This record gives sequence, C-alpha cells and structure tokens, in this order.
Amino acid sequence: MEFVIGLSIALILGIIPANIAKNKGKDFMTWYIYGVLLWIVAIIHAICLPDPSKEDNAKQNIVLLNAQGTSEIPEEIDINANALVEQTIFSMNDNQVFVNCNIRNLSLDKTIVAVKASGKMLNSFDNEIVVNGNSETGVLLQDLNIMPGETGKNRIEVLLPDNEIRKLNLHIDQIKYSDGTIWNNNTSHMVPTCQNRLSEKYLEYAKKYSSKARYHSAIKTDYWQCVCGFANRIESNSCPFCGFEKRNAEIFDLSNIDTNYESYQESKRLKAEEAKKANKKKMTMGLIASAVFAMVIIIILAMPKIKNQIAKRYIEAGNYDKAISLLETMDIDDSQTSLLFRSVHLKKGFSLLEKGECEEAAEEFKQISTNIFSALDGIEYKYPHDVVEDLLRVDDSNDVKALAYEFANQLAQNEYEKAIETYDLLGDYEDCKEKATNLKYEFILRYKDYITYGNRSILERYLNELSEINYKDSNKILEDLFG
Ligand SMILES: [Zn+2]
Repeated sequence: MEFVIGLSIALILGIIPANIAKNKGKDFMTWYIYGVLLWIVAIIHAICLPDPSKEDNAKQNIVLLNAQGTSEIPEEIDINANALVEQTIFSMNDNQVFVNCNIRNLSLDKTIVAVKASGKMLNSFDNEIVVNGNSETGVLLQDLNIMPGETGKNRIEVLLPDNEIRKLNLHIDQIKYSDGTIWNNNTSHMVPTCQNRLSEKYLEYAKKYSSKARYHSAIKTDYWQCVCGFANRIESNSCPFCGFEKRNAEIFDLSNIDTNYESYQESKRLKAEEAKKANKKKMTMGLIASAVFAMVIIIILAMPKIKNQIAKRYIEAGNYDKAISLLETMDIDDSQTSLLFRSVHLKKGFSLLEKGECEEAAEEFKQISTNIFSALDGIEYKYPHDVVEDLLRVDDSNDVKALAYEFANQLAQNEYEKAIETYDLLGDYEDCKEKATNLKYEFILRYKDYITYGNRSILERYLNELSEINYKDSNKILEDLFG
C-alpha cells in the first residue's frame, strides 16, 4: 500500500522537471523517467539547464526602431493586389540590414504560402539608394502560412542589399497560394492612403463607426478610402482593416461632414434630453412608489389602533354587536383589543341580564372566561360570580361597580363567601367594606359551632381579619376556637 502511494507521488512529481526541461528544448519522456527515478537531482538539473530561447534573444538582431515604414497602413497601396504589406520591420545584425514584413491576405478563400514583392530603397531622409544601378530591390518571402483575411509574418528575415536602407515602398508582384496557383500582378494600380485627417472634434463621432477612425472617408471612381485611412477596392463593401462599411463612407466625406456632424450633435442632445426625462420620470415613479409603500406600512401599523378606537366608540354607543364583529377581525392577542373584547362581551352580557335573558347573557360571559363556573349553572344566582372579577379587571367604571354591588347584595342572602369576595373586590365602593365585615361576622356566628374540614380555614381567616380591627367579640371567639 505504502509503495503504491509512493510510486503515484513519484509519477506525478516527475512531470515538473520534465516540463522545465521540455521548455528548454529537451525530450519530455527522457526527462520524465529521469524525474521519476531521481526527482531531486532531475529538478535541480532541469532548473540549471541553459534556456535556448533566451540565448537566441541575446543573439537576435537589433531592431531598428527609427526605421520607417512601420505604420500599419502604407502611404500608398496597390488596390489590385490580393495581399498587402502592412508593416515592415528593419533590424541589423553584423552590420547587415534585414527586413521582416507583415503581410495581410486580402483573398477571401486562399492561403498564402509565398510572396514576391519589390520596391524603392530609401534611407531615413527618403533619399533613394542605388545598388548596382538599381533603385529597387526584390523581397522574397517564403514558408508563409497566411489564412484568408489574416495577417502573417515571414519568420526568416530577408537580407537587404544595402545597410543604409530604412524604408521600402513595397508592392506585391506575385503570390503563391497553398493550392499551387500563382497570382501575378499585371495591373498594378497604386493609390494613396490616409488622405485628409479628421479634425479633433469629429473623432468621437467617427469612432462610433470605427475604433481606428482618423481620416475623412471618400468615394473615388476606382476605390474608396475608409475612415481608418485604408484604400479599398470600389467593389469591396467593408474595410478589411477596421470593418467600417462602404455605405457609411459618405457620412465622413469632406463635403458632408459638417451637416452630418450637426445632425449627430442634435440627435445626441435629444437623446440626452430624453434620457433626462426618462430619469426624471423614473425618479418620480420611485418617489410615488415609496410614498405609497410608506403609507401602506403606516396604515398597517396604525390599523389596530384605528380599529380599536372605532370599537371603543361602538361600545360607548351601546352598539355591542358592531363592536364585536369588528373586534373579531382583529388580533385578539393585542392587549388593547383583548381588553375591549372582554369589555364588550361583559357589557352585552349585563345588558341581556337586565332584560332577563339569562341564557344569552351566559353565552356572552362564556366568550371571555371559560371558567365562568359552567356559566349556565350559575344563572340561579342571577349573575355568575366569576364574571365580577373579570368585569372589574377590564372595566372599573361606576356602572360596572353598581352591577357588581347589586350582584353581591343578592349573593349575601345565601352565599356568604362569594358575596364577601365580591365586596372585597369592590373595596371602597359604597358600603362594601362595612357589608363585608358584617357578613364575615355573620358567617362566624353561624359556623363557629359547626367547624368542618371545609370551613375551618375560612373561619380562621375571617376571625383574624376581624380581630385585627377589634370587631365586636371577634378576639374572644378567635381565642376560644383557635387560641
Ligand atoms: Zn478601415
């Protein structure tokens, strides 16, 4: 197992020195095996190998930067040629001058493999150089592989006959294609390029059509000049250099440009205005939307309060059913709503009791308290006792107190405990304190000789309460019974 893992790691690591060596011109497989077997030695060895590409660089010719003819578009071109010398690069080595040419293949379907070109030899001052009585020299470019529409370069530099040459006005004489055919330029037709530079103010406008735009376009009888400066055959519809279309050539013609430029500016201004308007509209819509949104939020937040207010008014006006149906649409967990809900059912219950509709009243009380001691059973005392507590908790108005007071008075006839509880709840209302005290005393007198498990604690509590205020003989009874 460990051996398998170790071997896998070695097989993977071996790639590193093999790759380094391969980049330096060595055989990958040999170095891979070397790397797998002796990794640490192989990697150091591979790193220390001399880099042939860097050596080549060191030996490379010095590029003559100041040499002419390095512009992309030559000053004049042969519009009948199927290829174009786009760029010439001069270099010097061992006191000899060489040239490299970038050739653009203007054919639509053929691949160039060789080009014969010739042209005048000039120095940096455009002075003609004559060698053996000839002011022109031929340049033979071979081993090319330039696809239709593409630009390619000869890899082997061509030696020039004089080391003072810095410019060649090359025109193409012959092209050899990959299909074996040869094109001969019998009808050379040189035309100027890059005529009439566009003034600065038109550049932005022209760049909308061609990123390389620098010149006025022009349509002549046998060729048209593109805004990039290139001269195209009259039958070609778009410029191979920048893609500018012939149908737009009139726009940037010297004679039309002013009018066209003005309407361009006008449309630009209109567009900007429209954009501004659209923006304004967008902003207004945005503002309205946010305002509506904010209002909706406010309404949603305020809704319970508003509804509670309305319910409260209904209750005050005795409109209990309306208040109930409104409150039923609301969240009963809200404390204010819950209070109103209990209050309205209580008030409705009591109003029903007043009319003698006891069962209906009990139904109302059931709504607010499930333990209204099985509400119906308590009806025999006219008012269910537990209701009082609830009632006083949610509504301590004098109306409610009066009802509770009346209720306690009735209970006092046979339900001492419940009556006392109610009087205690009512506290300072009317003579509740006095009545509670009297009733407690009455309760004591009645049961003091019949103490049971059930009434013992109540008796003791009442006696303690009364003895605290020295009521009648309560102290003595307390002493007798529990002392
Ligand atoms: Zn162009």
